[in-house]
Amino acid sequence: MKFTYLLAIAAIFSLTVNAFTEDKNAPGKPSPPTSDKEKRSEKKSHKPMNPRLWFANYQKYNASAKKVQNTADARYKLGKWAWDNGLEDEAWEQWIVAVTLDKNHASTRKAMGYIKKNEKWIRPGTINNNWLKTVEADQRAFNVTMTIADDADQKFLDEFAWRVRRLNWFMWSLTEGQVYLKSVQIKDKATGGRFHVEKGKRDIPVLRGGGAYCIRPGRPNWEVRSGGKCYVRILAHEMCHGIFGVPDERHGCYCLMQGGLFGIKTKDLILCNDKTHRRHRITPNSCWSIVKKKYPKMVQPNKANYGIPPETKIKIINQ
Ligand SMILES: [Zn+2]
Ligand SMILES: [Zn+2]
Repeated sequence: MKFTYLLAIAAIFSLTVNAFTEDKNAPGKPSPPTSDKEKRSEKKSHKPMNPRLWFANYQKYNASAKKVQNTADARYKLGKWAWDNGLEDEAWEQWIVAVTLDKNHASTRKAMGYIKKNEKWIRPGTINNNWLKTVEADQRAFNVTMTIADDADQKFLDEFAWRVRRLNWFMWSLTEGQVYLKSVQIKDKATGGRFHVEKGKRDIPVLRGGGAYCIRPGRPNWEVRSGGKCYVRILAHEMCHGIFGVPDERHGCYCLMQGGLFGIKTKDLILCNDKTHRRHRITPNSCWSIVKKKYPKMVQPNKANYGIPPETKIKIINQ
């Protein structure tokens, strides 16, 4: 169940281009959207970037990141450029530095999705505690340990904590408020975590082989292995292999499990359902149909007022 997402960039170029230029009448192609809402989401979500353009932006970003001034303003601006050019994780890389340099840097806080209320930076929205109880009762509030084999300093671990927060927000939106990370312990010089950064992979960016994968997908003892700078969407993809047992989809289905949907923001990434799933002999079933089999209490679309997820309780153990 290896996931090569951005690992073999050359292969993905052809994969993604093929995926979106396939025969329009191929079996399993989603039927045209009907309602206005569906039309809008179709328009919004079916616009992956040309992978070559994405990669050119990625290279430009890396060149700029090497010489960016270490001020909150400069870091914010580079992050904004990355965000506007399809590089979400790179944007966050800069914003995390900006907010570390100045925790009240308003533009950065705003870009990260925070608003200021009573002199505190918070995420807008309401937590529905009754709803949370139902999620927890069905064992979809996860308490996990994330281990990093190598030694890591506090700065690395603090940055890693942002990855965890974002993973929590993303899993919540992806599952329409039905999965979240309740508590996460991050530990360096350790192994055996539910998520584990293997030895020597602490600083390897995904594009240079920090590729992530899931072992024992769909079983109670699933584990995710990754590089220490893994994209949040990849961690989520692997977590979905783990908790739901959904397979990789390499056949042009618009879904997180396809991978290679360049430039699309995590807030617009979805799991495919029976309407949107693009069937293939290797993946005959939609992700949501598999999810619902695994967790019969999960629903999609979820019409409940599930609100925002609680923030993950993060404990860093720097040893
Ligand atoms: Zn899918
Ligand atoms: Zn699908």
